[in-house]
Amino acid sequence: MPWQQPPHTPMVAATREQAAEFATHALEVLDRSGADGQAIFGEELNRAIDALRRWPAIGVRCASPRCNHGMAWVAIDEGSARAVSANRRRPPKGRQHGGIYDLLDITPGGGLGRAQEGWVEDANANKGSVRPTGERPGITSGYNERRTHTCQRCGRTSTHTNETLLRRILEAIRDCDDVIRL
Ligand SMILES: [Zn+2]
Repeated sequence: MPWQQPPHTPMVAATREQAAEFATHALEVLDRSGADGQAIFGEELNRAIDALRRWPAIGVRCASPRCNHGMAWVAIDEGSARAVSANRRRPPKGRQHGGIYDLLDITPGGGLGRAQEGWVEDANANKGSVRPTGERPGITSGYNERRTHTCQRCGRTSTHTNETLLRRILEAIRDCDDVIRL
C-alpha cells in the first residue's frame, strides 16, 4: 500500500516539476480572485496554493543588475494566501519544514508571543530591508499586506501589494527559480 500523508498535513509538492504545475494553476486562480484585502482568505486561491506553502523560502534580491544585493526572504503563509516576509533565513539545519518555517527575524523573541509578524517587528525596530507601507483605502484584512523593500546597498526601493508579491513568488516556483528580483 502506498504511503499516505496523515490528514492534518497539507499535500506538499514533492518535485520542482510538480511545484511548477501547482504554481501555474495557482496563477490562473490568482488572476481571477486577486489576493489583496479579504481575498487572502479566498477558498479557491487557498486550495490552489496549499501544496506550495512548505516550498522552500524564496530569496528577494535587488533588481538593479549592478547590485543584486540579497534583501529579504519570502514564503507563503500557512493559513492564508499571504506572502510572509523575513529579513533572514534559518540556517540549513533548521530548514527541514520549509515555507514560513525557513524564515528568521533580526529582532529576538519570535514565535506565537509576538504582537506582530517578525518582519513588522524588525521594521518597527528600524532593522532590515522590508517594511509595511500601509494599505489602500477599503482594502484590509487585519494583516500588513503592502510593503516596501529598500536595498541596503544601493538604496533602490520597490513597493508591492500582497497580490503582486504573491504573483512573483508563484512565477518563481513556476519557472524553477529560487530568487525574485524587486
Ligand atoms: Zn541594490
